[in-house]
Amino acid sequence: MTNVNQDPHLSVAIPCYNEELGLRALHERVSAACQRVVGSRYEIVLINDGSRDSSWQVMAALAQSDPHVVAVNLSRNHGHQLALTAGLSVCAGDRILIIDADLQDPPELLGEMMRLMDEGADVVYGKRSMRAGETVFKRMTASLFYQLLARMTDVSIPVNTGDFRLVSRRVVSVLQAMPEQHRFIRGMVSWIGFRQVPIMYDRAERFAGQTNYPFHKMLRFAADAITGFSTLPLRVSSYAGAMLGIAALAMIGYALIGYWQSRVVQGWTSVMIAVLLLGSAQMFFLGILGEYVGRLYIEAKRRPLYVITEVVGARAPVQEQVATRLDEGVARIL
Ligand code: UDP
Ligand code: MG
Repeated sequence: MTNVNQDPHLSVAIPCYNEELGLRALHERVSAACQRVVGSRYEIVLINDGSRDSSWQVMAALAQSDPHVVAVNLSRNHGHQLALTAGLSVCAGDRILIIDADLQDPPELLGEMMRLMDEGADVVYGKRSMRAGETVFKRMTASLFYQLLARMTDVSIPVNTGDFRLVSRRVVSVLQAMPEQHRFIRGMVSWIGFRQVPIMYDRAERFAGQTNYPFHKMLRFAADAITGFSTLPLRVSSYAGAMLGIAALAMIGYALIGYWQSRVVQGWTSVMIAVLLLGSAQMFFLGILGEYVGRLYIEAKRRPLYVITEVVGARAPVQEQVATRLDEGVARIL
């Protein structure tokens, strides 16, 4: 809940997987940025996502020497998005900065992001204008992915953004009220709404180590994003059925004409008609099944139905009331 009398307390959530080489530099730069902007009112939550190197030892040492650092150890590698989710559940701040451990996103933008939030934004998301040190392949697949995603989903998920963003406490509360297992956090944040503003920046190269998103993880990530926000793939069958049905009608006409003109071998016409009709009918009914499966899927996610942003004319102070409502929602679902 936002405390109106004091400067907001800031949490920084950083999921880390095999980042031993960069952790100290990360700690230094993030600490410096925080101190410049919020003085000592900050915490840095480092989440160790089952690293196989000595990341955890480095983190634990940092937490011991710096009271601002909280180190969280996960039992195994759960993946970036779940590590981040775990981190968010530990963050206590009124505002939460989400940033990768590899320093590709500059923590120095914090001041500007906080300013945008002071002006009323609930989400300030980093939008990459340049991506240094990434292969042509990564850039091309990323751009293709975001275009496809934009076409397939109802929620508008801004292109060229990562998870680098500053979010308000109420956004995190709603995120936590979304209990789905396959989490595509940047999409979920877009889904939440409120006032979301971009901040442009150049994406730097990795500070140390190498990317933890090999191609198969990228594919899984893309699948989570698309299936998490769209049931379009389930409908493809209905569309195919309908198209095939139209083609079948034309084809049946052709087969009948052939039959009347005795141009074709006996039996061909009836077999063609049966195959065409059955084929398109099957496709179509598969699509209907898809519609139901899709609805079951959406229901199974148990997302909040809506998010209230303001209540005017309430007895309690507006902000307070909204926050309480969201907290209640969270408490009920958890
Ligand atoms: N990460 C994680 N668990 C994983 C993979 C990655 O916590 O299984 C973290 C990683 O340490 C980094 C962030 O997620 O802080 C983004 O990963 P990476 O930089 O490898 O992705 P890229 O920038 O190449 O997309
Ligand atoms: Mg990276």
